[in-house]
Amino acid sequence: MINSHTQAVVLLGDPVTHSLSPLMQNAAFKATGLNCAYLATRVKQTDIAIAVAAIPVLGFVGANVTVPHKKAVLPLMDVLHQDCQLIGAVNTIVNDNGKLKGYNTDSEGFMRALGDVGYQPEGARVIVLGAGGAARAVVVGMALRGVKEINIFNRSRAKAVALARQVQELGVSANVYDWSSLITESDSARQAFINANLIVQTTSLGMPPMESEYPPVPLKWLTDKHLVYDLVYNPPETKFLNKARQSGAKTVNGLGMLLYQGVTAFELWTRCAAPVELMRTVLRNELGR
Ligand code: NAP
Repeated sequence: MINSHTQAVVLLGDPVTHSLSPLMQNAAFKATGLNCAYLATRVKQTDIAIAVAAIPVLGFVGANVTVPHKKAVLPLMDVLHQDCQLIGAVNTIVNDNGKLKGYNTDSEGFMRALGDVGYQPEGARVIVLGAGGAARAVVVGMALRGVKEINIFNRSRAKAVALARQVQELGVSANVYDWSSLITESDSARQAFINANLIVQTTSLGMPPMESEYPPVPLKWLTDKHLVYDLVYNPPETKFLNKARQSGAKTVNGLGMLLYQGVTAFELWTRCAAPVELMRTVLRNELGR
């Protein structure tokens, strides 16, 4: 029941109507008996500074930030969490008595999702396909939590090189491979797959409107010693995951990352334990599985 004591959390993005966060977070507020409401608000790029300034003025608990504002919000924060600085994007804001604290819960969300399936990053060699914003969150999460080596494949080599440099600055070994090395089946690329136990698919391939496409990884390189994690969660099984599963790999879709970035944000806003299983059920029901 919304009343005069209800506290608000807002999603700032453009567009926002596709977002599953309002359903997931409002179900979590209800289940925990917190008098809070989560609203999705469409904010134009030219208005983002005004919208962020309104958070303390209107006494909002905090916010989520999504495309296209994640970078623009960074200089508007009073305090930035380490993950957020390294990723260069904010997806969660906490209003701490008028001070705006910026976080990025995607790294934590990804790592918690890996933990859910029993994957331990310490000392691992991993493959990352893609070098966009989501890849940055994934590699920062893994680099800060003990992986030994990150091997990056991206269509645009320059972006992969920049990401690898950042990984190296965190004291973790990083290598860059041309996207075409997957197609030509280069020896060095094959060796990287042999040495790795985790392959993270972070490109937009597999997501509508590219649902029939997938990275050109030779399927014979995928075995039952690999965990293949695809950040895409809709469709629940991308073509890439389907082929990886048929090659014997263990496969996981991106629903866990979506869930745990929300769980982490909920915990930051409320300082209460999130009803994780309820939030998972809400997402699964909404995505039809
Ligand atoms: P982004 O910053 O736009 O990066 C897109 C990535 O996909 C880049 O590496 C890009 O390569 C690559 N790519 C796009 N089209 C390609 C093609 N035709 N062939 C080869 N590579 C291609 O997007 P993002 O924010 O990183 O998001 C990427 C994916 O992750 C999306 O599907 C998104 O829904 C998903 N995601 C999931 C979660 C979750 O919670 N599960 C969270 C964040 C994102 P170039 O650099 O060469 O352009």
